[in-house]
Amino acid sequence: MFRSAPMQNDWKLIQNHLKLKADGIPREKTCAAIKKALGLVPQTKWPSQSEVRSGKSIFGVAAKQANLVTIDLPYPMKLSWEMTTTTQKLRCHHLVAESLKNIFQNTLDHYGLERLSELGLDVLGGCFNNRAIIGGKATSLHAWGIAIDIDPNHNGLNEHAPKARLSRADYDAFWKFVEQEGATSLGKERDYDWMHFQFASLN
Ligand SMILES: [Zn+2]
Repeated sequence: MFRSAPMQNDWKLIQNHLKLKADGIPREKTCAAIKKALGLVPQTKWPSQSEVRSGKSIFGVAAKQANLVTIDLPYPMKLSWEMTTTTQKLRCHHLVAESLKNIFQNTLDHYGLERLSELGLDVLGGCFNNRAIIGGKATSLHAWGIAIDIDPNHNGLNEHAPKARLSRADYDAFWKFVEQEGATSLGKERDYDWMHFQFASLN
C-alpha cells in the first residue's frame, strides 16, 4: 500500500474536523489548530510577541532587572562567540526559568552529554540581551530574557532547512522538549533563524 494514501486521508480528516482549507491559512495557525485538536497544546500559554512588545504582557517591560534571574543549567554550555569559554549559568526572565531548565534537563536525559555536544546543543548564542531585532527597529524578545539562541554558527539567521542543522531529524526530540514548554521555534514555524526559540507566539 502507498504510504501517501492514508496520510492524505488523515490530513482530510483533520481539515474537516478543524474546518480548515488547504490554502490560505498561515502555517503557524494550522499547526496550532492541529495541536489543539490532538490535545497536544502545552499547559503553558505564553503571550504573543506583539503583546510582549506592548510591555503589557505578563513579562512586563523590556530589560527590567527585577524580572531577571540567573538559572543553573544542567550541563555546561560553550559561548558561540568564544567556544573555549563555558558557562553553566543563564540569565533569563523569571517566568521562563522553569521551562528553560526543563528543556535542557530533558535534552541531557535524552541525548547524553557526548551526543548533545556533537549536535551543538551545548553551544549558547545568548539569552537575555537588551537589543533591537537584527535588521530592524522592534525590540528583540531577547531584551525580555524570553528568547534563546542555540548554536548560531550552524543555524544562521538566513539559513533554511536542511542546511540549518537544527532543522534536521537528529533534533526532533529537542524540538519536542521546546514545544512541550509552549515555546515557539522560528525555524519550525517560518524556516529561518533556526538558532532561536522564544516564549511568545508569532502573531
Ligand atoms: Zn534569537
